[in-house]
Amino acid sequence: MSAVSTPQIELKGLRKTFGRVIAVDAVDLEIGDGEFFAMLGPSGSGKTTVLRMIAGFERPTSGSVILGGVDETEVPAFRRDVSTVFQDYALFPHMTVGQNVAYGLKVRGVGGAERTRRVGEALEMVRLGDLAARKPGELSGGQRQRVALARALVTRPRVLLLDEPLGALDLKLREQMQLELKAIQREVGITFLFVTHDQDEALTLCDRLAVFNAGRIEQVGPPSEVYEYPATRFVAGFVGSSNVIPAASAQAVVGRPGTFAIRPEKIRVLAAGATPSAGELGLTGTVDEVVYSGATTRIVVDAAGLQLSATVLNDEAPDDVAAASALRRGDPIAVAWHESALRPLEV
Ligand code: ADP
Ligand code: MG
Repeated sequence: MSAVSTPQIELKGLRKTFGRVIAVDAVDLEIGDGEFFAMLGPSGSGKTTVLRMIAGFERPTSGSVILGGVDETEVPAFRRDVSTVFQDYALFPHMTVGQNVAYGLKVRGVGGAERTRRVGEALEMVRLGDLAARKPGELSGGQRQRVALARALVTRPRVLLLDEPLGALDLKLREQMQLELKAIQREVGITFLFVTHDQDEALTLCDRLAVFNAGRIEQVGPPSEVYEYPATRFVAGFVGSSNVIPAASAQAVVGRPGTFAIRPEKIRVLAAGATPSAGELGLTGTVDEVVYSGATTRIVVDAAGLQLSATVLNDEAPDDVAAASALRRGDPIAVAWHESALRPLEV
């Protein structure tokens, strides 16, 4: 990831059109050795197309794909040192788990004891050592996912591409697999490029992420930077949720021109009539909605012609939390936030 080492993946002016559809538009990106990198964006934003161009399954309309410092734009998929894990796993149903994992080694001519040893290691790594003789049809979704991972890692690629690999799993299993993926990536130390439309997943897993919108990258950075300093209105709304103070309200609410975002958890809810502290901006308004969700409560406030969401952590004694949740629609209320919590946006 440092400037001195050669990036494992470098995309330069990458573009792909399908007829009149611009799927990927002028993407520039560098991904370092050993990084866990996520491409995050809504469905149709071009993530899979970028991944397929890196793998060599799709030819760019223009631009280049540079892998390990070598321009491989014209190199066929089977010659590239990358493996792909697809959302639907694409396991061979008639082969056992062991045979599925061994397949990539077999076509590369790795035989005998070496192959057996490496298949064993890969299955141990995903904790499937006991299930080598089963067929994919006899496994759960999570286990099939692990077989796909073992199969991709057994050939020791320099780069592992993962296209929404956890998309078919239910939430609990998904969260468990996220932790396992992170541990496996630490263990093998190779570059992971992970595609997802789920912002929580991207923030949880990656060292850095790129936020895609309509075939372009809107922002690249570590999760905390992208979340705390969203550059654009799209990023502010797609990565977490944000209140946006539009240009028309900025002068009145913020005291200067511009468009601003502010995170719901940065807004403090005060009793009506209470004044903000030094360094804070404040507004008075009325309660529009109170949504209790266990650990937090979301309070929607109408103020200065805006609807602002504030998230309050329910970390007080149960009676106090109950009192706070007793707010009703139309109750007068005040909100306040630190000037530094406002993020100016490029619109
Ligand atoms: P994502 O993975 O972010 O959901 P995709 O890369 O799959 O997005 O798709 C980006 C855009 O390109 C979409 O508008 C999609 O319909 C279009 N597209 C992708 N593949 C093809 C194809 N083979 N033929 C025509 N259009 C395609
Ligand atoms: Mg996709």
